[in-house]
Amino acid sequence: MSKITLVIPAYNEKQNIGPFLNRCQDVEKESGHRFSYVFIDDGSGDGTFDEISRLAGSNSNIRGIKFSRNFGKEAGILAGLRECVKDYNSQHEYTVIIDADLQQDPKYVVQMANFLDNNPDYDCVACYQKDRKESGFMKFMKKRFYKMIDESSDTHFEENVSDFRMMRMEMVEAVLQLGEYHRFSKGIFSWVGFNTYYMPYEVEERLHGTTTWTFSKLFKYGVDGIIGFSTAPLRASTWLGIITSVVALVLLLYSVIKTIAFGRDVPGFATIVCLILIMGGVQMILLGIMGEYISRIFMESKKRPIYIVKDTIGISKDNSFSNNRFDKTVEGTITGETGNRFSDADSRTGFIINDIKKGEEVPEVQDGSDDYDNTEFKWEKI
Ligand code: UDP
Ligand code: MG
Repeated sequence: MSKITLVIPAYNEKQNIGPFLNRCQDVEKESGHRFSYVFIDDGSGDGTFDEISRLAGSNSNIRGIKFSRNFGKEAGILAGLRECVKDYNSQHEYTVIIDADLQQDPKYVVQMANFLDNNPDYDCVACYQKDRKESGFMKFMKKRFYKMIDESSDTHFEENVSDFRMMRMEMVEAVLQLGEYHRFSKGIFSWVGFNTYYMPYEVEERLHGTTTWTFSKLFKYGVDGIIGFSTAPLRASTWLGIITSVVALVLLLYSVIKTIAFGRDVPGFATIVCLILIMGGVQMILLGIMGEYISRIFMESKKRPIYIVKDTIGISKDNSFSNNRFDKTVEGTITGETGNRFSDADSRTGFIINDIKKGEEVPEVQDGSDDYDNTEFKWEKI
């Protein structure tokens, strides 16, 4: 028997949460495993958090986190995983990321747990869609995307793998060590390594509501993935520059030789205009690619929290400011003078009030984000 924590990001899923929980409980009863739930309300406007709160009233295994606005599914996953690693202590504790809309049947959660129970060599089971229930165009685009990102990056990307996956806690801890602002979970899960088993699953229809993924959102997500895990576009820019320079040089030599041999040739206005436009376009594209990387550096350097928690259920308030929460003894040395800004290995930032040394219990830290100025956070030794 294993203890499984389900991390469920939910955005406007009020109608789905009740049926989702019922289905989970049915599956749990038959399985012999123990389920607990961390719902993350990603700034819903339909009363999703009230529904979570209502259900938590009669089920002590439900925890809830409410964001102050919509921060995106990736932020929800991060908040849920942070909650999971807080107090685990056995080898048979797993975390699974699952959607709230019942497109991913909880029966697979049991299959994944059974697999991990029987295969101690594996650390993760990731579900992939056997057959995508999408238009031919979307299927084609996604196939191209996986191929492109897999080939252009050092990290391996398996085709059609969703975020629906179960991990041992060691892997969750590894995932949490990556504190980047632009989170592309598919890449992060792959990057941390560990032994992953890929399990096929059937995607169900959404129970209520519609997907929030539009083509433009998917495009942005794809660009985030490529920029976050590959420098190939930068390298391609260099090659494009080299190729155009070589072509320009050959053309230059050709026109010099032609002029010497046959005299001055005045016409060519159209050619010049075309060349200027082409070169201008190429340069703009290259600047755009560089801009994408620079904007990532800009966002990362701000060290903003990835999400802001507004309310919680079943989680003590002291620990609710997840991105700025300090509930462990310092694991690395935090250097700097009192009053300076710091960030630790988990990208948690703050101002140093007292001098802190490695392994020391920290009495008080003042949080660094504007929203919580003058708030004092206590460090607890565990
Ligand atoms: N979701 C979220 N924040 C968002 C968008 C989606 O937490 O900004 C949640 C959503 O409630 C669902 C899961 O992420 O539980 C997957 O979203 P959706 O069903 O819209 O995506 P799809 O299944 O079409 O990939
Ligand atoms: Mg869905």
